[in-house]
Amino acid sequence: MRKLERGMKLLVASHNPGKVREINALIEPFGLEAVSAAELDIPEPVEDGVTFGENAAIKALACAKHANMVALSDDSGLEVEALDGQPGIYSARWGGEEKDFDLAMEKVLRALENVGASNKEQCRANFTCALCLAWPDGETQIFEGKVFGHITWPIRGKNGFGYDPLFVPDGHDLTFGEMDSDKKHKMSHRANAFKLFVEACFD
Ligand code: IMP
Repeated sequence: MRKLERGMKLLVASHNPGKVREINALIEPFGLEAVSAAELDIPEPVEDGVTFGENAAIKALACAKHANMVALSDDSGLEVEALDGQPGIYSARWGGEEKDFDLAMEKVLRALENVGASNKEQCRANFTCALCLAWPDGETQIFEGKVFGHITWPIRGKNGFGYDPLFVPDGHDLTFGEMDSDKKHKMSHRANAFKLFVEACFD
């Protein structure tokens, strides 16, 4: 596995501003210069994988080849136990064309009501994040992280993005939407995947 070095340019293969912000914060201490797929006007590929890892690889490879740069992608989502892991890889799509996450969170709540889940134990959930580092010649490596907790209602907090206001990580009372971003970055699925990425990719 090839290593990354300080000062290298890394293409962040995402068009999601919330994710780009979090990935930039994670890579900054490693001296990597980040540029995003949106800044380079790289089209979004069709994500037709069936796992987070497959979709992460599709996005990272598309960017690495298009820009001839090393690219890091993130495919992530919310998995709710009582809903057999839904919305899972379809987490972004539950927000519809408008990427309306108030609507997506409402859908999660309705689906939980439909299966009769109401208390903390019945509303177990986790976020999963697969990071993929891809090189222009097609080499890829995937790093997967998770954070476990439960769904709470009504939603709370305006920080973060996506489903953050309805997720309470284990051992905490605040939702990700209420937490300071620094605190979320220390325990999130993305942070856990990032630790594996750092161990593998830096000397
Ligand atoms: P995708 O990986 O771009 O297909 O989208 C993943 C979707 O999962 C995002 O649009 C969010 O809705 C959700 N998601 C992923 N990570 C987080 C997170 O850290 N907080 C809240 N929602 C997230």
